[in-house]
Amino acid sequence: MVQFKTPLEIYKLLPRSNCRQCYLPSCLAFATAVLKGEKRLADCPCLPAETAALGDGGNGGRASMDRNMEEVFQRLQGEIAAIDLAGRASAVGGRMVEGRLAVTCLGKDFLVGPDGTVTSECHLNPWVTVPLLRYVLASTGVAPVGQWVSMRELADGPTWNPLFVQRCEAVLQRLADAQPHLFADLVGMFSGRRAAPVFDADIAIILAPLPKVPVLICHWRAEDDLESRLGIFFDRTADCHLGVELLHTLGVGMVTMFARIGHLHG
Ligand code: SF4
Repeated sequence: MVQFKTPLEIYKLLPRSNCRQCYLPSCLAFATAVLKGEKRLADCPCLPAETAALGDGGNGGRASMDRNMEEVFQRLQGEIAAIDLAGRASAVGGRMVEGRLAVTCLGKDFLVGPDGTVTSECHLNPWVTVPLLRYVLASTGVAPVGQWVSMRELADGPTWNPLFVQRCEAVLQRLADAQPHLFADLVGMFSGRRAAPVFDADIAIILAPLPKVPVLICHWRAEDDLESRLGIFFDRTADCHLGVELLHTLGVGMVTMFARIGHLHG
């Protein structure tokens, strides 16, 4: 659940057109109402469903957010049913297996059926399956170029970066600080690899939550009076495959899974 602290954080997610379709005089008034729990993000009809699914400012429940994501997932399933799945295999770095599209995410196969059904040996949740289906539908197929950028350097990244820092980087940093073997475990469990030295990080690993959307995770240990830091970087081409809000969603799904595993091992 996103815990918004100020109306500005919510306002940055809105179209800022002041169109009043939410029956409030401006987007800023709407943002204030969401923070107070008087409105939900989904009450703005101009927001993409993925953004609306972020929740209601911390005053609603996780169940309602998951329900919204489930609705988005069902809509994407309908779009999948209308495309030639085999025709997308090469673009998304997948392969056809008995009539289903196999896409390898974090080293595990996720099978997408012609009706949009997703199956995998992994636990499925819409924070992963929604980005997966959108990737199958919309990826341009461009290959990664090996240039790493932060979330805020991607198109529309500055809007999403504060949430990404809060929900992904800060969570993973706490986990890494508490569990020294975390990165070795992630490499082993999710077919990752150590990256060549980069950004002067103490540890850097590369994982592939989607075949053409690798992420670089860098960790800098605490030193003297400097606190530890953690950064998650995307290939410069990442927004050719997913909009930045779904890169955020994918990051949340990935980090949530790591946190669960860390909790079990811890
Ligand atoms: S409906 Fe959405 S875009 Fe229009 S004023 Fe309300 S919050 Fe802003």
